[in-house]
Amino acid sequence: MAKTFMPEFRTHGELLDAQLEGLKWTVKHACRGSSVYRKKLDEAGVRPEDIHSLDDIQKLPFTTSGDLQEGYPFPLLSVPFEDVVRIHASSGTTGKRKVLCYTQKDIEDWAHFFARCYEMAELTSEDRVQIAVGYGVWTAGVGFQLGCERFGAMAIPAGPGNMDMQCEFLIDFQTTAMCCTASMGLLMAEEVNKRGIRNKINLKKMIFGSERSSEAMRKRIGDLLGLEHMFDIPGMTELYGPGTGLDCIYHAGIHYWADYYILEILDPETLKPVPEGETGEMVVTTLKKEAVPLIRYRTRDLTRLISGECACGSVLPRHDQLLGRSDDMIIFRAVNIYPGQVDHVLSGIKGIGSEYQVILDRKDDGKDYMTIRIERAIDGDKAQDGELKKKIAGEIKKQILVSGDIELVDYSSLPRSERKSKRVFDNRD
Ligand code: ZN
Repeated sequence: MAKTFMPEFRTHGELLDAQLEGLKWTVKHACRGSSVYRKKLDEAGVRPEDIHSLDDIQKLPFTTSGDLQEGYPFPLLSVPFEDVVRIHASSGTTGKRKVLCYTQKDIEDWAHFFARCYEMAELTSEDRVQIAVGYGVWTAGVGFQLGCERFGAMAIPAGPGNMDMQCEFLIDFQTTAMCCTASMGLLMAEEVNKRGIRNKINLKKMIFGSERSSEAMRKRIGDLLGLEHMFDIPGMTELYGPGTGLDCIYHAGIHYWADYYILEILDPETLKPVPEGETGEMVVTTLKKEAVPLIRYRTRDLTRLISGECACGSVLPRHDQLLGRSDDMIIFRAVNIYPGQVDHVLSGIKGIGSEYQVILDRKDDGKDYMTIRIERAIDGDKAQDGELKKKIAGEIKKQILVSGDIELVDYSSLPRSERKSKRVFDNRD
């Protein structure tokens, strides 16, 4: 049998057993190794020996990005310093940069489950993987590289940007898989077509990291390059880095590595579990991480669990694509809404562009009103507006459970940004 990086166990029960064992170990290890964790556990009145079942995770205190920032430069370190073999830093979009330490075993574990990503994407040792993400203190490049080599495919450490070189590599090395952001993927796809080199390259798969790729974007990339598959790879520096899951070839959600971490989906307000299948904040607890274990770390990222068995038959559970950050949550007529949910609904509708705005107003009647302003597609026809508006309003109502006025505007009339565009305009006091 071929070498595999998938878990040894086959049943859900075995997975839960492994999780409980890992949870017990993590709490004991963090309590022994880190004075910060010891203090947090003390304050919560819980000792490592109080963990008897997976439900006992709810007794444990939360860890936040604040805990990581306060402990700068080596927060929550739970092993002696001589056991640390590497550090990585997050790009720090908000506040101070977070630095994470790794032991030799942490690096081994990361390489192992990153190799699993390539296996999930059904690559083989014949594949040639062009890694067009940033190398450096960030976890991206080195993670993709390590996983690729562990898996046994050929890594081409290209780094980001530099279209001339990327195109040259695609032709000369006959790259079969490319790892990059979705934006970079789109640029590559357009560049390949502009240069008329599509019949000289051998690219079959793309793996997108760090940003959510919309359906519209994926479709355009796939069409331009004639790809077999495109995958989304999640990851954050706090949790090793990229590679903590991947969608399989059925693309019905992201399989996450539940043998390395427990994923709870909680209501960001009450911090209680949401009903199965509903959107909430991802809270992660590591099961094997040595240098900086995470106990109920609030990621602020929103998603939902996908129940049932995947067509691929994997025992590894699935979560949906990330829907945005809990910090961006809007409360509208007592319903919690995330901009990513609107994005998700719109990406499933034909005839519109990728740009939109959500405008919230409070009118004289004291009620809140929502307007969703959306661009028509590039070749959009105004005559179709009525029908399109009805369709969008219907889908919003069905999927997000709120009513809004839909306004359609010309393609390219909403502002664009290379960085994150402002999409929500809340005019209520
Ligand atoms: Zn699957």
